[in-house]
Amino acid sequence: MTENTSWHARAAALTIDGRAVINGKRTGAVSGQTFDKLSPIDGRLLGQVARCDTADVDAAVQAARAAFDDRRWAGKSPAQRKRILIKFADLVQKYGPELALLETLDMGKPIKYSQSVDVGSTANCLRWYGEAIDKVYDEIAPTPANSLALITREPVGVVAAIVPWNYPMIMAAWKIAPALAAGNSVILKPSEKSPLTALRLADIALEAGVPAGVFNVLPGYGNEAGAALALHMDVDCIGFTGSTRTGKLIVQMAGQSNLKLAWTELGGKSANIVCADCPDLDKAVAAAVGSIFFNQGESCNAPSRLFVEESIKDVFIAKALAMLPRFQPGDPLDEATVMGAIVDATQMQTVMGYIAAGKSEGAQLLGGGEAVRLDTGGYYVQPTIFGVDAGMTIAREEIFGPVLSVLGFTDIAEAVQQANATPYGLQAAVWTSDITKAIQTARALRAGTVHVNQYDGDDITVPFGGYKQSGNGRDKSLHALDKYTELKTTWIQVG
Ligand code: NAD
Repeated sequence: MTENTSWHARAAALTIDGRAVINGKRTGAVSGQTFDKLSPIDGRLLGQVARCDTADVDAAVQAARAAFDDRRWAGKSPAQRKRILIKFADLVQKYGPELALLETLDMGKPIKYSQSVDVGSTANCLRWYGEAIDKVYDEIAPTPANSLALITREPVGVVAAIVPWNYPMIMAAWKIAPALAAGNSVILKPSEKSPLTALRLADIALEAGVPAGVFNVLPGYGNEAGAALALHMDVDCIGFTGSTRTGKLIVQMAGQSNLKLAWTELGGKSANIVCADCPDLDKAVAAAVGSIFFNQGESCNAPSRLFVEESIKDVFIAKALAMLPRFQPGDPLDEATVMGAIVDATQMQTVMGYIAAGKSEGAQLLGGGEAVRLDTGGYYVQPTIFGVDAGMTIAREEIFGPVLSVLGFTDIAEAVQQANATPYGLQAAVWTSDITKAIQTARALRAGTVHVNQYDGDDITVPFGGYKQSGNGRDKSLHALDKYTELKTTWIQVG
């Protein structure tokens, strides 16, 4: 492993504060319990993190409710909230190197991307919703002349955000930025696998001027802190991102308790269809390979099913295999590394279990397929490509690791039918020079986002979310504000 002294030295000097942030104060769990936070990059103990449960959730909800009721945040003008959110974004950039280092140590992604992608997108998201919120107008309905009907948006109240570990800061920002911009109080429950940057975000929000009690962060386990939030009678809305399995539980718990709004951004098994008339084969190969191996394959929208037209399949696969060496995992603290560590031992076992299932079900292992042992320890897997049949486990289930399943097709209608034959519907892509085929295919694909002749389209201005069991509602864009606001009609008699 190449040693990058600078990042390694900073990592060694880092002190971790794993306490929750409730009502503007750092605090341990009421029970006094903590859990060990290990780093996936080498297995080292990073620190102890508060193991919050029902008692801490009650305290945080009480603080958030009090902050909402006295209107210390909701009562500010949109322009005032804007200024504070922009300051929050500026401070995220100021503390960028520290946040990037925490993100890499916590969940294993390369420092190069923690800095350029995770810190940058988090700051951009906070800034964008800050900038947007004083430009959103309400409506007046076209009612008869003797009345005036105002249609206004109000914050829903106390919002709980429960997020996963794959992009800890970005997933948090996609929830907290629109929720805070709209005037809500927020309780963020990061994943137990990656709680550290969320806790720092709470400190930074306070420094930016977000009043105490408005943004609280509770680390803890899903079935403890997460379930207590989902079941709480005084939480008005849950913004959830995570697996489809947990998303179903969240919706059940919302129904079982106070019928809180429950928004879910869930798993995916996205299809990438490359036709023989693809306008740029090298670009298509680079996108197919780069997008599945980015973030160690731990991306909900990773194009994990690749459909290639039979006449170009062999050439395509040869070019894809030629790219594998540059995705070999390495030290995440080395700025040259592009693929880092898998988040923990459990996830590594899951990924290796899928690779074993591929081998045992007769999938053709084209490249990779092995765990990688770095001399530091930690959890690393080779970038892996299989030739598969549609019915195989690895062609159907979300792996959430660096494993690409390749299928052939001869007829675009057959490719679309197979692409749609999944419970998921997060993203899809089609590569073709034929504009009619591109539009017809994009229309036929049942996914929240369809890419044409690219896979990297990504901007805060566009909605992100899924069809079918990939969830409901949308993160990002002005549409996300709908999730964190109630629509109110006010009828006024006029003469
Ligand atoms: P997960 O469902 O295991 O956990 C997500 C969050 O839910 C964590 O904070 C966890 O502690 C919490 N949780 C777990 N059990 C809970 C329970 N019983 N009650 C309440 N909360 C509970 O998912 P994960 O492994 O952290 O993340 C990976 C999944 O997230 C993948 O399926 C991925 O596709 C999905 N994801 C989706 C998007 C999207 O925008 N659609 C984005 C990123 C990740």
